[in-house]
Amino acid sequence: MRKITVLLSILVLALGILTAGCGGGDKGDKKAAAPAPAAKEELIVGTEPSFAPFEFPEKDSKEFTGFDMDLIRALAKEMGYKKCTIKNMGFDALIPAINAGNLDVSIAGFSITEERKKQVIFSQPYYKSGLAFVVRKDVNDVKKFEDLQGKTIAVQLGTTGALYGEKLKEKGAVVKTFNTSDLACMELKNKGADAVISDLPVLQYFLKNGGSDYAKLAGEPLTAEDYGIVISKKKPELAKEVDKALDALKKNGTYDKLYEKWFGSKPAK
Ligand code: GLN
Repeated sequence: MRKITVLLSILVLALGILTAGCGGGDKGDKKAAAPAPAAKEELIVGTEPSFAPFEFPEKDSKEFTGFDMDLIRALAKEMGYKKCTIKNMGFDALIPAINAGNLDVSIAGFSITEERKKQVIFSQPYYKSGLAFVVRKDVNDVKKFEDLQGKTIAVQLGTTGALYGEKLKEKGAVVKTFNTSDLACMELKNKGADAVISDLPVLQYFLKNGGSDYAKLAGEPLTAEDYGIVISKKKPELAKEVDKALDALKKNGTYDKLYEKWFGSKPAK
């Protein structure tokens, strides 16, 4: 009788172990069968495409091209999005659109500023830029920023260049504000302005592509500014993903390749 009890006990124990084993296996199976994270369909990007070589209309196409455009498409791919849709809007409308949830990110040669950081999250810096100014070719009395006092200056609405122009207003300068960078430069061509304050790489590109017929760089660069990608404060996870993808593109050579494509040299380390 005692033997039977012992045997039964062993049997019960063995069964217990077996069931526990099954339980473990079951858990493993569940893990394997877990659905893959939902495929990310579409990254909606906002830009203001009058800012060559960062964002501008591609010739004979409805698409936008430029360093920022190539970079955001590569980032979207890296983050696992199937589609990257680029929307065109006024520069001053981009941050409100981000905060209204109408865009996922914005890339538009956005300088990282303390003021903007109160409203949005910036990615890690992806390009070193800064303000400078050009004057009309026939303007010969402007050698430095202070010489712009009393001149007419064209700037783009909502930009750091426009803020810099404001400094001259108190000193008797007339500041004309335009919706796009192209229009500000056009005003110079039409002799409606003596100078344009904008980002140095954009002014350099403009001079190289026809602008030097009627404009020239004057003075020293005014500021050093870093560009960052703009993300809503409501989406800190997305901001982390963007930074992670930027790290990956910097590591795998894609970032350097795009930089060289658009600026003809390797980025300064
Ligand atoms: N970098 C400048 C800024 O952030 C200009 C940007 C632009 O005109 N797209 O204000």
